[in-house]
Amino acid sequence: MNLRVLGCHGGELPNCRSTCFLVDGVMALDAGSLTSTLSLEELCKVDDIVLTHSHFDHVKDLPMMADLIVGRRSSPVNVHSSEECIATLRKNMFNNVLWPDFTAIPDRKNPVLRLKPFKSGSSFKVGRYTFKSIPVDHPVESCGFVISDGHSSLGMSGDTGPTEQLWKVLNKGEELEGPAARDQLPQQAAAAGRHLGPTHARKRSKANSGSSTTERVKVLSTIEPASAPLA
Ligand SMILES: [Zn+2]
Repeated sequence: MNLRVLGCHGGELPNCRSTCFLVDGVMALDAGSLTSTLSLEELCKVDDIVLTHSHFDHVKDLPMMADLIVGRRSSPVNVHSSEECIATLRKNMFNNVLWPDFTAIPDRKNPVLRLKPFKSGSSFKVGRYTFKSIPVDHPVESCGFVISDGHSSLGMSGDTGPTEQLWKVLNKGEELEGPAARDQLPQQAAAAGRHLGPTHARKRSKANSGSSTTERVKVLSTIEPASAPLA
């Protein structure tokens, strides 16, 4: 699997982009920085977007992307997320108030975006990839994922506070290349917003070092842009 990091921050500044990973050029994990990093041609090749949760920094480029690709694809872009997240997008984003309902443009049969809910904790297919979703700890329903293309696997935590289930599942992965874990905030703020702080993430990654997979496990951390010292 080819993983391209489009954004790995918990906010946006000229040199920081919100969370978004591109897999093999055809599938996005979260949608925090699709339109600020991809060309229109690259955007049109994204067939599926899988969301960890509904927070704005993970979904904010969905409406911008929808507007850009109208009439440029022959099939809808599938947006996969938990039932709660889909309900939030319908009610608060694609509601014809904040933004047009691109799930019904040009019509409901062949829209620009198709919202496809999955049950948190379930396994499902997205194109040629198999997903296992793992509920994690966050103020809104949030999922981590183990994603496999049949040859290799990738783990993604999404936003989470301390969680055991995710590490258990990740450590079972025989062919795990490495989790794109998210630890966005300084330790104190992280605890308040149910995120992994830097200390906890490092501890958990060290705690895993006895397992058969951990030699290949790397924790990709993200940080809140405003927590960096001013230049
Ligand atoms: Zn969040």
